[in-house]
Amino acid sequence: MKRYFHPLILPIYAVLFLYSHNVGHIGFRHVVLPLIAVAVLSVAVYGLSTKALHDQRRAALITSCFWVLFFSFGRVHAIITGTRIFLPDAGHYYSLLLLWIVIFVVLSLLITRTTRNLAIVNRFFNIASAALMVIVLASLAMSTVFTHMQASQHAEVAPEPEPVQLQLPQQPRDIYYIILDGYPSSDTLKKVYGYDNSYFIDGLREMGFFIADESRSNYPLTVLSLSSSLNMRYLDEMPKTPGDDSRQTAVTHRLIEENTVARSLQQAGYNFVHFNSGWGPTIYSREADENFLCGRVGDEFTEALINLTPLMPALGGDGARRRILCTFSTLPQVPQKVEGPRFTFAHMLPPHPPYLFDRDGEPLGRSEMQMTGDVWKNREAYLEQLRFVNQQVLKMVSKTLQTDGPSPIVVIQADHGTASLGERITGGWSDPEEDFLRERSSILNAYLLPDNVEENLYSSITPVNTFRLLFRHHFLADMDLIEDRVYFSCYERPFDFREITDLLKEEEEGAKD
Ligand SMILES: [Zn+2]
Repeated sequence: MKRYFHPLILPIYAVLFLYSHNVGHIGFRHVVLPLIAVAVLSVAVYGLSTKALHDQRRAALITSCFWVLFFSFGRVHAIITGTRIFLPDAGHYYSLLLLWIVIFVVLSLLITRTTRNLAIVNRFFNIASAALMVIVLASLAMSTVFTHMQASQHAEVAPEPEPVQLQLPQQPRDIYYIILDGYPSSDTLKKVYGYDNSYFIDGLREMGFFIADESRSNYPLTVLSLSSSLNMRYLDEMPKTPGDDSRQTAVTHRLIEENTVARSLQQAGYNFVHFNSGWGPTIYSREADENFLCGRVGDEFTEALINLTPLMPALGGDGARRRILCTFSTLPQVPQKVEGPRFTFAHMLPPHPPYLFDRDGEPLGRSEMQMTGDVWKNREAYLEQLRFVNQQVLKMVSKTLQTDGPSPIVVIQADHGTASLGERITGGWSDPEEDFLRERSSILNAYLLPDNVEENLYSSITPVNTFRLLFRHHFLADMDLIEDRVYFSCYERPFDFREITDLLKEEEEGAKD
């Protein structure tokens, strides 16, 4: 391999290329094992083919062809199917696999049979792979420096959260904070979707829930909403909030991971239990005492790497479906698995697109799995998934309530509403209509609380006050509720907040006239 290093360089390049897009998000230690694996495999393939062919030039080319096909598979698959996940019922995977095998066999035959001088081709592969390597190393160096600079800035804008002093009751109750992503109020479901959701709401009420049916989310985007509710503060009041035009959500990611609510409860003696949502900041928490990784095969990097290759079925194909089903079934078992008292945080992506379930939990069509385009416009698929979520949540909560200990505290809340009246899932929000602002901010917000806390609840409470209410009235913390305010901002300029509290109130009053 001395003269022909491309069979070794190409797979290493593929791994480093993926890593270069994830620097700052994934530690280098996650990359070491994949690097060793591809290097060993490459040497083995090259060694075996050299032995078989008695020709290093041919062996080197065959090995490199193998790697190019291997790591391009996932991309091509994604382009053909429009989804990055493997679905067992999708014929595309097997057709593409067959095509890839045929191409590999044909190329190998051509390489072994040809009488042309392969030294030139090998030299070309050497130069090309070396060039790719230089580019990826340069981009790695640049993004490493950039991430370091950012990290020091973030430490400034988002200082360590100060835990709130809580008084632990004699018999502390387990707390479940369940976020159903993009779940609107019954009112919106009726007006915008023409759907009557009373079956679900009545089910919750029967179990003792209070439904804050005039609730709105404080922010329209997940990162903003969660970092605000988990820190019980508005983001413009955070010291040195990132500038208005900043797209840098790394600060909010950190606020989600290192949040005041979990830290306060941990300091009071709670174990913090975290469920994998499958979405960046809430996949894994370094702060949690227990992480439930539902449906994970390897770490995030290994999974992303596998997804580029024909090995993608190893991820179980519909990994997102498995993860969600696993969360539904595992959450009620937390008391058996983790010592109490426990604070369980489960951010669940459905009913938010992609639409992975019909009302019976069966997969919907492939196109519904897409995350691009006007996914919110597909109201039928949304309602199918919502029905399934409803049924699973009722089942999960009723199991959770079957406990010998004190009745748990359960909050089921959306981080924001739906977006079927908006233009696209990202963008097109710069000049929103009022009916869209209403749709996006209207949320499900349901509480199961001890009586003395519940009597302080009100129907228009917003997530920023959820834990203020609980901490003040259940844990006797020295903190007050704050004014419920609603902000809007778009994906392009997430920190360019526009307060719409009064606008929404005016509309409601107008509607009553
Ligand atoms: Zn969300």
